[in-house]
Amino acid sequence: MSVIAALRNLQRVDSQVRALSTRLDGAVDALAAREREVTAANAKLAEAESIHRQLLASAKNLEAESGSFKTRIEALRVELNATSKKAQYDAILAEMGTLQEKRDELDSQALEFMTKADAQQARINDATTHRDERVRRRDAAKAEHDQRKADIADRLAELRREREEAAVQVPAKELALFNAVADEHQGEAMSEVIELSARHREYTCGVCNVELPPRSYAALMGNNDTITCCPSCRRILFLDLAAKAE
Ligand SMILES: [Zn+2]
Repeated sequence: MSVIAALRNLQRVDSQVRALSTRLDGAVDALAAREREVTAANAKLAEAESIHRQLLASAKNLEAESGSFKTRIEALRVELNATSKKAQYDAILAEMGTLQEKRDELDSQALEFMTKADAQQARINDATTHRDERVRRRDAAKAEHDQRKADIADRLAELRREREEAAVQVPAKELALFNAVADEHQGEAMSEVIELSARHREYTCGVCNVELPPRSYAALMGNNDTITCCPSCRRILFLDLAAKAE
C-alpha cells in the first residue's frame, strides 16, 4: 500500500472514531454542565440555611438575655413585697420598671429576628425546590449519558482497534503529520486536489479552495507517495489518480 493510500484509509477510520466520540462528548459535556448547576444550587441552599441559623441564634441570645432580666425582676419583686419602707419600696419599683423596659426592648428585638428567620425559611424552601429540580435534570442527563455510552461503547472500541491497525500502516513521520493536521481540522486531515484547468495548470485544494502552486501538483503527479500539504490549510493533498493507481 502506498503511503497516501494508507493515509486515506487512516483518514476514513479516524473520522468515524471522531464522529462517534463527538456523540459521547456531547453527552459528557451536557452531564458536566448539569453537575455544575447542582453544585451551584447546593451552595445557594447552604448559604440560605447558614443565614437562617444565624438569625435563630441571634433571637435565642436575646431571649436568654431577656430571661436573665426576668430573673432579676422576680428577685426584686420578692424584695418589694418584704419591704415596709416607702423610700426603699419606691426605689425597688423604679428599678423594676427600668429592667422591664430593657426586657421589652430585648423581646421586641428577638421577635424581629424570629420574623426575619421565618422569611429566610421561605427562601430555604425556594432554594430547596430549585436544587431538587436541578438534581432531576442532572439525573436525566446522567441516564442519557450512560445510555449513549452503552450504545456506542462496543462500536467505538472496534473502530479504535481499526484505527490502530490503519495507523500501523503509515510511517511514523507521516503519522505524526496526519495526527497534528487531523487535530487542527477536527479529523479532516486530507484534501483532494481539484483540477480547474489542466491546460492552464490550475489546481486547487479541494477543502479550502486555495489555488495550489504548480510545483505541488507536479510533485504529486511525479510520485504518488510525495507528501505535500496545502500551503493555506496544511491538509495533506492527494490526487484521485493515486487512488486509482492503487
Ligand atoms: Zn487547503
